Amino acid sequence: MLEFSRYAGGLAESQTLAISATAKRMRAQGIDVAPFAAGEPDFDTPDSIKEAGIQAIRDGRTKYGPAAGLPELRAAVATCLAGAGYDGMTADRTLICPGAKGVLFLALQVILADGDEVLVPTPCWLSYPKMVQAAAGKCVWVETKPDDGYVIDPDRLRAAITPRTKALILNSPGNPTGAVQPDDVQAEIGRIAAEHGIAVISDEIYEHLTYAPARFRSFAALAPDARDLTLIVNGVSKAYAMTGWRIGWGGGPEAWVQRMIRLQSHALSGPPDISQLAALAALTGPTEPLEAMNTKFRARRQIMCDALNAIPDVHCPVPDGAFYVFPDISAYLEASHEGEPIRTSTRLAQLMLEHAHAAVVPGDVFEAPYAVRFSYACSSEDIRRGVARVADFLTSLQRPTNA
Ligand code: PMP
Ligand code: GLU
Repeated sequence: MLEFSRYAGGLAESQTLAISATAKRMRAQGIDVAPFAAGEPDFDTPDSIKEAGIQAIRDGRTKYGPAAGLPELRAAVATCLAGAGYDGMTADRTLICPGAKGVLFLALQVILADGDEVLVPTPCWLSYPKMVQAAAGKCVWVETKPDDGYVIDPDRLRAAITPRTKALILNSPGNPTGAVQPDDVQAEIGRIAAEHGIAVISDEIYEHLTYAPARFRSFAALAPDARDLTLIVNGVSKAYAMTGWRIGWGGGPEAWVQRMIRLQSHALSGPPDISQLAALAALTGPTEPLEAMNTKFRARRQIMCDALNAIPDVHCPVPDGAFYVFPDISAYLEASHEGEPIRTSTRLAQLMLEHAHAAVVPGDVFEAPYAVRFSYACSSEDIRRGVARVADFLTSLQRPTNA
């Protein structure tokens, strides 16, 4: 009998990817499934970016490249990070990985040792705790609440620090809540990190999906005190509709980044030149595609929130960023379906897929059992039709009377 590691060997599959895959399969069978589980833009990669990838193939860019990524892309990334306020950022303090996931994974692998603690504000993206587990670390949750707009409470953060605290993962705009952390809160988090010597991984993958009047500010700009401890993570997946190209990057202290590059040289090698040259075209090309997507997402966000808030006892705050809404559906966890008590967001999500043909991700996987995540990375028509089915389904459930 094989025995597996209790760290990486004990992980379950990513539910966001699994539910999206089930929804895609159902759609391929002709079932009209609302694709609200999607963690990726429904838009196609812009043509000029695709062309750069095609040209790279024609030019024979099909060999191994440097483990850190292509120098020209690293230089463009350094320019972006410096432009966002990371003073002193240079190409040799960056690395290119297979998606932002690759960056996060390597970053945690090289800083954590057995039992080191990582502060993770919740609700959180489901892969953070799994990556921490795979690096033999331990998550310490720092709860944020819907009534506070999911803003991190610095006092709560301070109270969670122990002698084992090694790192903190920040994600603004955040998945699954869409919350943007205010400037002063990020600055305070920077001061706390500097005071306690805590490494900060700031996942800024939803940077360009911040909706006016809210605006994006990089943690690097807001927390100069913590600069020597900060790794910024970003990439082209969400902003340029390039999820399948698998390009993300990190920028931070040289010692941290160099160790990640060395690990990448053994574990993965640098990502394909083809994808990197397409990402370079994205970063150095026109900004219209970003603006056009932002405008579309902003309009869909409103349609989604209005439709969900019209359902009795569903409370859906309007988030400032990303392309998810995270309504509180806890009233329906007390309901029953054909005599079966629902109880969990996981069961509710299964029933929604089966009976309302709406694929959503249960809050359980984001450490928030009272909610479900709806992505609005789909057409307005999909949103209207799908939420109407969800409304019919929820209102058909048997609910306990208050009498
Ligand atoms: N961070 C967050 C918060 C995400 O939602 C995602 C989406 N998958 C990622 C990182 C990973 O992005 P990538 O596809 O570039 O690996
Ligand atoms: N980040 C997206 C999501 O949360 C994409 C899927 C994934 O990589 O987890 O759905």
